Amino acid sequence: MKPLLLLVAYLAAVTLPLLLSRLINAPPRALHQELASGLGILAFSMVLMEFVLSGRFKAISKGIGMDVTMRFHQLMARTALAFALLHPFLYQRTPSGGQRPWDPSRQLTITTDFAALSTGIMAYLLLAGLVILAIGRTQLSYKYETWRAMHGIGAVLIAALLLHHTVSAGRYGSQPVMFWLWIAMTGAAVGSLLYVYMVEPLRERKLAWQVASVTPLGAEQWELTVTPKGHSGLKFQAGQFAWLNVGHSSFSLKENPFSIASAPAAGPDVSFMIKEFGDFTRTVGQIEPGTIAYIDGPYGNLPVDGRPEPGVALIAGGVGLAPLLSILRQMRLTGDPRKVKLVYGNRTADQIAYQTELGTQDVTYVLSDPPKDWHGKSGLIDGALMDQIFLPEEFNEWVFVLCGPPAMMDIIEAHLRKRGAPPSRIMSERFYYD
Ligand SMILES: Cc1cc2nc3c(=O)[nH]c(=O)nc-3n(C[C@H](O)[C@H](O)[C@H](O)COP(=O)(O)OP(=O)(O)OC[C@H]3O[C@@H](n4cnc5c(N)ncnc54)[C@H](O)[C@@H]3O)c2cc1C
Repeated sequence: MKPLLLLVAYLAAVTLPLLLSRLINAPPRALHQELASGLGILAFSMVLMEFVLSGRFKAISKGIGMDVTMRFHQLMARTALAFALLHPFLYQRTPSGGQRPWDPSRQLTITTDFAALSTGIMAYLLLAGLVILAIGRTQLSYKYETWRAMHGIGAVLIAALLLHHTVSAGRYGSQPVMFWLWIAMTGAAVGSLLYVYMVEPLRERKLAWQVASVTPLGAEQWELTVTPKGHSGLKFQAGQFAWLNVGHSSFSLKENPFSIASAPAAGPDVSFMIKEFGDFTRTVGQIEPGTIAYIDGPYGNLPVDGRPEPGVALIAGGVGLAPLLSILRQMRLTGDPRKVKLVYGNRTADQIAYQTELGTQDVTYVLSDPPKDWHGKSGLIDGALMDQIFLPEEFNEWVFVLCGPPAMMDIIEAHLRKRGAPPSRIMSERFYYD
């Protein structure tokens, strides 16, 4: 799906309850009271849409990439929290006292029903806690998997509490049409989580993989190859990524996203290039061939298949080579007539992976900390280096695919824009989006 279409679909879903509530023929109230209800309604629908923006839907990740989806997820969570925080304060000067017989649509009063209010207050506090914990996640010492489980359970709890609060305390939420809309939207949100963590793993269980080999690729990097166990493998495009689970049940949260480094045209085996980083990646070297693995994928929007540009520029920093290697391998294997240039940066010479396979034709190696006898480029991949490697017409016509450290990607994206490449010709994947 195209980014604009996705944005329109998001806005339509988020504003649907607000628009429907406007159609309810309720007696008018003061503007600040309407604003209070409106912000509460918006905050709830945004919280529900967060389930869909959690990075595990192929149509979304293929349309805009997982890094963009996750940053949007983070931004919308903070916006929903801001709306929710304002929501009760805007009811100021509205008399309370529950639903009075003479005020059935709560034109003049807000509820004091304890149950209806307490679920709202609990959701309010939990939402603030969830967002703060997510912002400070990297500073906290617990494992990523623990945080992810807490985040998911917290989100389901918030959705359930908000549903109760909205349909029992809300002036609009208590109307039948809104009641059923909220039930349907909450069901779809929680259902999407169940789909990702219950239905997909069930499907994956039937499509198990087996580790074929684990090979060192120089300093703290490994190539892990898996082979399908009794099925035809994964249909993917070069440049995409998948969630990899090695040695655990398909229902386990112990899975990590990795770009596929092998080419689709190379056959059913799938290879990953993995850099040691945390608890799982540091143990990759100890994985035994034959270990059962599961793959959830493909995801991502880096593929260059079918693009009209006459050339493909691949700019890789460190393990960011993985998706670009898949693209390069696919182009070489299929005899793709488009021109291609790879710029591959590392800090030291022992970090360069796949050097024999990559060769020197159309490949520029860059080291920021080169040895004395280094014949490649030295320094960082920056604008000046890009100008040495690419001709003006290549900046004007080629598609540029970037993957590497955030600082490198920021500098190169800005430089490409300066050289006239529009965003439609710049594709990128970020491995970390905090
Ligand atoms: C789209 C994408 C493609 C990637 N491709 C590659 C690749 O080809 N090669 C490579 O070496 N690395 C890749 N990464 C990074 C890789 O996922 C992390 O380095 C790895 O998950 C770290 O796991 P760990 O258990 O070793 O470390 P941990 O200490 O558990 O995690 C370190 C950090 O990695 C990230 N991370 C860990 N688990 C997950 C998860 N399940 N979902 C999302 N993020 C997670 C989090 O930011 C976390 O803070 C990719 C990341 C993304 C998002």
